[in-house]
Amino acid sequence: MDLYTLQRKELVVSLEKLGIKDINVLNAILKVKRENFVKEEFKKYSYENIALPINSNQTISQPFTVAFMTEQLAVSPGEKILEIGTGSGYQTAILSEMGAEVYSIERIKELSEEAEMKLFSSGYRVRLKNDDGTMGWQEYSPFDKIIVTAGSPKIPKILLSQLKTGGRMVIPVGSESVQELTVVKKSIDEKTSLPVFKAKKFREFKFVPLIGKEGWQLI
Ligand code: SAH
Repeated sequence: MDLYTLQRKELVVSLEKLGIKDINVLNAILKVKRENFVKEEFKKYSYENIALPINSNQTISQPFTVAFMTEQLAVSPGEKILEIGTGSGYQTAILSEMGAEVYSIERIKELSEEAEMKLFSSGYRVRLKNDDGTMGWQEYSPFDKIIVTAGSPKIPKILLSQLKTGGRMVIPVGSESVQELTVVKKSIDEKTSLPVFKAKKFREFKFVPLIGKEGWQLI
């Protein structure tokens, strides 16, 4: 067994100890080669439970954060999932490994192109777009699930409208320095037939900012 495979197993054990229970999430983490989504100089830290720098001043999220968010998303095979913030493509690969049909948007062209190469060479068939993800992806909506992997000052309304009834969105909401992981479930009011959104807040995380029309503005 090579060193990375061994370290990947150890990472899964430590994520279980940290409270991750979804066996499908743990299995995906056991399969996806995080070292393929990390820069050459940081490869030796691929299986440390830490975020690492990627190009354009962004980061590949900490494995625990990816596991926690994916667990909250409650992914089933065949679901149509929209991800905002492709970044390194690691979270995209995890969702694809779980059998989801993944659509992912990244605002930085360089990262989107790099992630596309890495995902396709690793065998993940996903659809990527270089754009402002706060506007969603109308063409392929509605989605069963939406995951936002950058911190937002609020929940973008367009994303809520692109969610199926019964669907769920996971998004970090808060200030630029700290955000609460928020899970929003969409249902329908039987009397009025209007959509109803129920939000639940989880622990705090620190994400890079979601920059866009419905996120933080660039000044
Ligand atoms: N899931 C990624 C996280 C990368 S960090 C990973 O684990 O590698 C979050 C990413 O969100 C950054 O790459 C950043 O450029 C991107 N981002 C920020 N605002 C965005 C927006 N409005 N639309 C799409 N991507 C955005």
